Amino acid sequence: MTTPTSTQKPALTGALTTLNHDRDSAGMTYVYPVLSRRAGGISVGINLNPNNACNWRCVYCQVPDLTRGGPPPIDLAQLEDELRRMLDDILHGDFMRRSAPPEMRRLNDVALSGNGEPTSSPEFSSVVDLIGTVLTDFDLIGKIKLVLITNGSLANKPQVQIGLRRMAQLNGEVWFKFDRATRSGLQQVNDTETEPERHFQRLNSVAQLCPTWIQTCMFGLDGAPPAEVEIEAWLTMLARAKAENLPLRGVLLYGLARPSLQAEASRLSRLPEEWLHALAVRVEKLGWPVQVSV
Ligand code: SF4
Repeated sequence: MTTPTSTQKPALTGALTTLNHDRDSAGMTYVYPVLSRRAGGISVGINLNPNNACNWRCVYCQVPDLTRGGPPPIDLAQLEDELRRMLDDILHGDFMRRSAPPEMRRLNDVALSGNGEPTSSPEFSSVVDLIGTVLTDFDLIGKIKLVLITNGSLANKPQVQIGLRRMAQLNGEVWFKFDRATRSGLQQVNDTETEPERHFQRLNSVAQLCPTWIQTCMFGLDGAPPAEVEIEAWLTMLARAKAENLPLRGVLLYGLARPSLQAEASRLSRLPEEWLHALAVRVEKLGWPVQVSV
């Protein structure tokens, strides 16, 4: 589940960069380290979709060879072993010296992200339990964040909701993708038939279960920014969330940080920083905190 700035796998053998996000280079199947400029430290990513399959197909997605579908069964023992080895190297080994510049030698979070939608794994709630056990053993509960980066499309499933409740107990938070709030916008940007109303209801259920941020990517398409009608619909959704007292943390507003690996890549462009900040001001006027990442 990628965002324009999230998580992919750099090498354990050399310095990480905030641009080199190749999920295979750590030599592990499920676990990969990322140097996060935004977080100012290391994020440990957990990829539950090693087959590059997702139920959405966002035009800005950075997953190579993205296919439609769900993940293969997760080998929980292998995932646990990889996570323990990674955390041990970061906390007790020389990972930081090898891989990060001095000013970024801190562990910021564990992120359920990866090359597809994490909650599409039937083992999702077991994975959250497993992460809880490992974080407890490393005395990290409450000291680092646990983040789920999700498109939210499966938030109505009981197993997903069990996992979200457990995440809340582990100091977790959800970044819930809500790029557009019209049917045609969701179709164009996320290549999904999702109804905006259903997606809003899913957002509501997720926010009731675990602290939640909305995450939205804005970019130029064929040289033009999103149409004002799309922006208005999205702001109306945020205003409704405020009026209905959805317990959201706020909005994470992303530009196009890294190139898309989808067929539309050549049609996408970065918006000027001022454009994103002007939109952020409109979000703040609705009463929501907003963080912009360009
Ligand atoms: S939700 Fe979108 S961005 Fe995330 S993995 Fe699926 S297709 Fe890619």
